[in-house]
Amino acid sequence: MNASPKIVICGAGIAGIAAAYQLAVAHGAKDVTLVEAGNPLSLTSDKSTEAYRNWWPGPDWQMTAFMDRSIDLIEEIARATDNRINLNRRGYLFATADTAKIEFLSEMAELAESRGAGAVRFHDSPSSAYVPSHERGFDSALNGADVITDRSLIRRHFPYLAPETVAVAHARRAGWLSAQQLGAVMLEAARERGVKLVRGKVVGIEGNGRVRGVTIEINDMRERLEASHLVLAAGPMQKEMAQMAGLDLPIIAERHHKVSFADTDGVPRSAPMMIWLDAQYLPWSDDERAALEADDEARWLLEEFPAGVHGRPDGAHATLLLFNHHGEAVEPEFPLPDPPPHYAEIALRGMSTMVPGLRAYAGKPTRPYVDGGYYVKTRENRQLIGPTPVDGLYVSCGYSGFGVMASCAGGELVARHITGAPLPDYAPAFLISRYQNPQYIKLLDQWGDGGQL
Ligand SMILES: Cc1cc2nc3c(=O)[nH]c(=O)nc-3n(C[C@H](O)[C@H](O)[C@H](O)COP(=O)(O)OP(=O)(O)OC[C@H]3O[C@@H](n4cnc5c(N)ncnc54)[C@H](O)[C@@H]3O)c2cc1C
Repeated sequence: MNASPKIVICGAGIAGIAAAYQLAVAHGAKDVTLVEAGNPLSLTSDKSTEAYRNWWPGPDWQMTAFMDRSIDLIEEIARATDNRINLNRRGYLFATADTAKIEFLSEMAELAESRGAGAVRFHDSPSSAYVPSHERGFDSALNGADVITDRSLIRRHFPYLAPETVAVAHARRAGWLSAQQLGAVMLEAARERGVKLVRGKVVGIEGNGRVRGVTIEINDMRERLEASHLVLAAGPMQKEMAQMAGLDLPIIAERHHKVSFADTDGVPRSAPMMIWLDAQYLPWSDDERAALEADDEARWLLEEFPAGVHGRPDGAHATLLLFNHHGEAVEPEFPLPDPPPHYAEIALRGMSTMVPGLRAYAGKPTRPYVDGGYYVKTRENRQLIGPTPVDGLYVSCGYSGFGVMASCAGGELVARHITGAPLPDYAPAFLISRYQNPQYIKLLDQWGDGGQL
């Protein structure tokens, strides 16, 4: 890096803050400014389910290596702060009631192992030695996944799951944390090392082929901020922001919601993150079904819903649920438009297929609160981190539904690109220039989304 780099980071979501933290705290960068149009961590980074996992069965090893690194860094922060970030390691529990999926689940677990996520342990008898997760803390040596196909063992350890459940895969280097606390810890440490936070909107990027600075609007006044290095971390506004520098980033945005509601009887407080792998018809009573049948506007609620409803307990009294049954590309707009009709009811009923105890709330969820934000995604759902064709311009974006868990390794990677520090093996997988490789483009046609949530 040259003698006195001036680094400006556009956006103080978890991605921008993690970059500032890594630059200032790990690399000793002296002149770092975060520019934020709203409040730090308040646009997308406070809307997440805050979950993390190293389970990335496809399509290659890079996401697992990247996420393992990110989790290492998250754990370091947890250790250094007496776990102010409330990190747990309860795992992700993937479950199915479909015998035809048992093989698929086992294959996914083996694939995750082959990608470096840790060994799979198979449990097909009642006496098999499955080790449950601790409710609190994150210092577990258990990695990889446990695939349980013995139904009595499933019932013993997860009595709240639907009795029809025939198999579960419990991914063990996984759980959740407080994203706000993680962001706050990093922002505080960065500011202690001199990172400045400027409240304003970036409205222009200066430089012709080489970054020179940004124009910021603060209370209708325009100011210029000199920059030798610029990191774009604008979340859902990233495409628009990159266009200011003449870049057309290959990203789209999808709107996603989550509902939280008061829950005392449905999801036990010690449960892991739970994901139902089966497509389903929502459970309705005969009367409800007849009423929906007769209603042209609501009849679609009787149709099949996709796999993937998921949820977890949130503290002592709440449960969070997500059902991404609506995921097309949209233009980001704020305030966020209304959620899809009946979102809370659909998520609750959908999750009650997995956790029948939730049926007690059907038709009357207590204090449901729906919020959401945008998943910013590349076509293969893999983040963009690193330099761009514009000299001095870097991106850290495309974090989809995994930006909290990815933030620490993402911040580290962009900081290493900027400072010229050695790069990890996985760095090339996240460069924009990967799309210039015809072989990569060919591969993309064969890749699914790796079972991402
Ligand atoms: C419903 C939902 C559930 C999720 N669940 C999880 C989960 O369980 N685990 C997980 O890891 N991730 C999850 N995510 C994803 C995660 O929340 C995001 O990937 C992450 O928050 C993205 O962070 P970011 O910093 O890129 O974007 P943001 O948090 O949106 O930050 C971007 C910032 O840039 C600022 N900005 C934009 N334009 C300008 C400008 N012109 N000038 C100045 N500032 C600007 C914005 O104000 C904003 O503060 C979820 C997301 C959603 C929506």
